[in-house]
Amino acid sequence: MSYVITIDGPAGAGKSTIAKRTAQALGISYLDTGAIYRAIALILASSEVKPDNDEYLREALSKIRVELRDGKVFVNDFDVSGEIRTPEVDELASVYSALPVVRKALLGLQQEQPKHGPIVAEGRDVGSVVFPGAQVKFFMTASPEARARRRYLERVSKGRPANYDEILAAIIERDKHDSSRAAAPLSVPDGAIYLDTSDMTEDEVLNCILDRVREALSHED
Ligand code: C5P
Repeated sequence: MSYVITIDGPAGAGKSTIAKRTAQALGISYLDTGAIYRAIALILASSEVKPDNDEYLREALSKIRVELRDGKVFVNDFDVSGEIRTPEVDELASVYSALPVVRKALLGLQQEQPKHGPIVAEGRDVGSVVFPGAQVKFFMTASPEARARRRYLERVSKGRPANYDEILAAIIERDKHDSSRAAAPLSVPDGAIYLDTSDMTEDEVLNCILDRVREALSHED
């Protein structure tokens, strides 16, 4: 049986880790929609396509081919998986993903993914816009402080420079931008299970998600 599980939520809520572990536990694929927005934003910005000209954007987007293979993101056959994980690309993705022309261009690519089998899709509008008919939907969030703390610890553990106050300010700014934009603002999708993970461990969140998924799928046929 093919099915879609969606996990939406703000930056730093731990969605990626949980979505990956959920996919692994169920033996299905993981769709990181943020990686697609990041890749597109990186290429548009480095080609100097400004976000304020729809015509140029449309033309540039028609020439960009994004592909997801084995957990990596390719743009016109170049692997950009490493380059898209920087604070600069955090911001660029937030800017370009607010544009309806960009969102429209990336919808088909996302919607094609379940054709290959069941998936866990993670993003900002996967349960509301991309896969409104998903079998199980989650909205995962945590307080800005809890999210900033996790990001800070993650950076430190990777030996990267980290400043808690700067991370917290960037998270608050990105939340504001993602929630107030006109195109697909961050919101709790209809029928989504709301999970505040501020005081939960990763394993607790994973178990809670797996329980709800198994329960929901047992009613499907
Ligand atoms: O999830 P991640 O931090 O990788 O996403 C980067 C940015 O891409 C987000 O801040 C958001 O602006 C945008 N995004 C989006 N819709 C999605 C996934 C990501 O607008 N489905």
